[in-house]
Amino acid sequence: MTRPSTPRRPNQQRVQRFTRKLLAWYARAARDLPWRKTRDPYRVLVSEVMLQQTQVSRVAEYYPRFLARFPTVARLARSTPRAVREAWDGLGYYARARNLHELAKQVARRHGSTLPDNPEELVKLPGVGRYTAGAVASFAYEKPVAAVDTNVARVIRRVFGNAERGMRNAELWRVASALVPKNGKRAWKFNQAMMELGALVCVARTPKCGECPVQQQCKTGRPSAT
Ligand code: SF4
Repeated sequence: MTRPSTPRRPNQQRVQRFTRKLLAWYARAARDLPWRKTRDPYRVLVSEVMLQQTQVSRVAEYYPRFLARFPTVARLARSTPRAVREAWDGLGYYARARNLHELAKQVARRHGSTLPDNPEELVKLPGVGRYTAGAVASFAYEKPVAAVDTNVARVIRRVFGNAERGMRNAELWRVASALVPKNGKRAWKFNQAMMELGALVCVARTPKCGECPVQQQCKTGRPSAT
């Protein structure tokens, strides 16, 4: 009989070193992106929805335009589907715009036009999955919760995973939750830094291990793999 594999928590000393190096690198290397300057939950949400299937450079162009037209949840809730579609034109994947519009109406109706601050409530809203719920809770409300997108999943699997037995989704989220600092502001930076590392250094095809700040803590990284 095969025994179920026990999820392992990463060693605390290793986690602390990893976090220190990651945050120091983020302070030096982070891109200056408009959605990192706000804690407005609606603005954070709009950026996350846009970033789901669109490149950062394109979102940076459309994001201010969309917010100029719909600056608040209440304003978006009152608009027509046609106006929302027009404002989204050029970003593609219009289901996102439809969901965002529906979400705004629900938030206006049920939550007094204020997005909930916890992932359990956020995930009940249209178009909001586990990642987006965590991202809004962390990036807007500075809650110490995990936000695992494709980039973060790749970093966690490479740094803390086991090449032979892999890491399933449930374990991935457990490890991510164990890694997130308990202090909300530090958790904000940690989550941003994990995404940035996955986007700029620990990229999918050819990770730039030679310039990676956490190479020494990584199970799979190689200095010559640049
Ligand atoms: S050392 Fe390489 S594989 Fe490990 S996190 Fe850094 S870039 Fe990714």
